Amino acid sequence: MSRPIVATIHQQALRQNLAIVRQAAPHSRVWSVVKANAYGHGIARCWQSLAETDGFALLNLEEAILLREQGWKKPILLLEGFFHSDELALLDRYRLTTSVHSNWQIHALAKAQLNAPLDIYLKVNSGMNRLGFRPEQVSAAWNKLRLLDNVGEMTLMAHFADAEKPDGLIEPLRRIEQAAEGLDCPRSLSNSAATLWHPEAHYDWVRPGIVLYGASPSGQWQDIASTGLKPAMTLSSEIIAIQQLSAGDGVGYGYRYHATGEQRIGVVACGYADGYPRHAPTGTPVMVDGVMTRTLGAVSMDMLMVDLTPCPQAGIGSKVELWGEQVKIDDVARAAGTVGYELMCALAPRVPVEVI
Ligand SMILES: *Cc1c(COP(=O)(O)O)cnc(C)c1O
Repeated sequence: MSRPIVATIHQQALRQNLAIVRQAAPHSRVWSVVKANAYGHGIARCWQSLAETDGFALLNLEEAILLREQGWKKPILLLEGFFHSDELALLDRYRLTTSVHSNWQIHALAKAQLNAPLDIYLKVNSGMNRLGFRPEQVSAAWNKLRLLDNVGEMTLMAHFADAEKPDGLIEPLRRIEQAAEGLDCPRSLSNSAATLWHPEAHYDWVRPGIVLYGASPSGQWQDIASTGLKPAMTLSSEIIAIQQLSAGDGVGYGYRYHATGEQRIGVVACGYADGYPRHAPTGTPVMVDGVMTRTLGAVSMDMLMVDLTPCPQAGIGSKVELWGEQVKIDDVARAAGTVGYELMCALAPRVPVEVI
């Protein structure tokens, strides 16, 4: 590696975060959500640290097959089910549990030639109007599926649009109750926010994602600061150049920052082509040589600038943490007008990754 940027994946943090999920939902089994290449952490790198889980949930067949080929034998849930009926042969071969959210999938299951029944998750539209059957359609869908030889165990599944709010589940849970009326069914409803903050929605299987990676489902690090959750990814780099500014000097594209007096700044080998958000404004938190400071001016493709005023000892080669244990990804994301989810998923392929 020549360029000093690196993403470090912390296996111990992944293990600890899963243990915290278990404590939060002690009576539920856990689908660890590893979609989007384990939220940018790398599914092949991460799954063994999460192997205490009861199952993995994701949505790419390729990722499911990779898990099987690497030796994972326990359940895998396809969160969006199959996208075309010809995928059913692979679901059968790799023994994948599938969500069923639309009538065409029921017809496809009825017609498929399978070696053994597939377990299914029937999805209820809890009100967010993304995937799933409306509550009044659920019992008909359930009964159709129950009659199919191709269908094994059935679970009712829903997803929440607003689970970080204290009263965000009232209306969705009412709709799910309506859907489940008269059905004797296991349920899987809870994402990270509901797993942490709504024990009334835990039921049989929870489906946490973001908390496994040590970021907040609400976008506010303070909301999870006391849980013991640990960031699973550190993005770090180094200072590669120093500039000495005088009053009025501009910094970076568009001169979006101007010095008001003498000021020493550092140039960091990290830019938006590495996954750092280009929208992060002057003042976004960053740590240099163990000291919290701030970014200055626009983020470039390959570099960004930082204020060295609080850390006069810093120089070429000083360590920079863009996010991780000290600089919370939630805080960087908030400064840039987004959420930690997007930043971790957007880690660029050109960034070397080490696992410790
Ligand atoms: C992504 C996803 C989850 C996990 O959500 P987090 O907010 O990361 O915990 C759970 N269920 C479904 C259906 C999802 O798509």
